[in-house]
Amino acid sequence: MSVLRSFVDSVRSGAIEVIDLTAPLTAETPILQLPPPFSNALPFRLEEISRYDDRGPAWYWNNIHTSEHSGTHFDAPIHWVTGRDGQDISQVPTRSLIAPAVVLDFAAEAAKDPDFLLEIDHVKEWERVNGPLPDGGWLLYRTGWDVRAGDQAAILNADESGSHTPGVSAECAGWLASETPILGIGVETVGTDAGAAHSFDPAFPCHSFLLGAGKYGLTQLRNIDRLPVTGAAVVAPPLPIVGGSGSPVRVLALVER
Ligand code: MN
Repeated sequence: MSVLRSFVDSVRSGAIEVIDLTAPLTAETPILQLPPPFSNALPFRLEEISRYDDRGPAWYWNNIHTSEHSGTHFDAPIHWVTGRDGQDISQVPTRSLIAPAVVLDFAAEAAKDPDFLLEIDHVKEWERVNGPLPDGGWLLYRTGWDVRAGDQAAILNADESGSHTPGVSAECAGWLASETPILGIGVETVGTDAGAAHSFDPAFPCHSFLLGAGKYGLTQLRNIDRLPVTGAAVVAPPLPIVGGSGSPVRVLALVER
């Protein structure tokens, strides 16, 4: 049997399980909030064009209002100034849209410390147990933050000192970008960087180093806890917005059962 026929048969039979890592898109979908003087993205919104009425008697459709970075979305290299000469979202090679994925689970640590940061030693210890990070694959960083996805205040977890959400240290982000063969990082938070990353050196190091290295980001993922530590494949095709810096994306994980 051909590889492709075997694959689709396995999806149909459930031998390959398809797990949706995507948050539903609604007007309540949390979005990143930057402090003044910076501009912010608009919330997702449906604008009805017609609904079986005078405006269109037999059909229902909407305009959608969204930012490129609303809900579960894909960050392209040109999103960051360090990647400004890199790919826009329409230029991400199609072969990169299907890739292996591994899970680094630090939900217990993030539950104790919302400002928890992934460090190089954490990743090296993970590699000692599980083998090297996948060449051309996603590092999916589990923090347990997905349970907050329906609640803007909970997912941003802000107080007077700013947002407190887990992320990656500047040193580790630089190392992941330059010393590992990953395709990019996927997270459960609204952005790939920690809530406090505006004060890191450099600021927003995941964005700065990974996008600057031509790697990618995936945000607001869920159901990462249902994936094996190694062995999953991720299908993450963004919209080919010409010149775009990112796109909402449906992220599916394929897992052999
Ligand atoms: Mn983004």
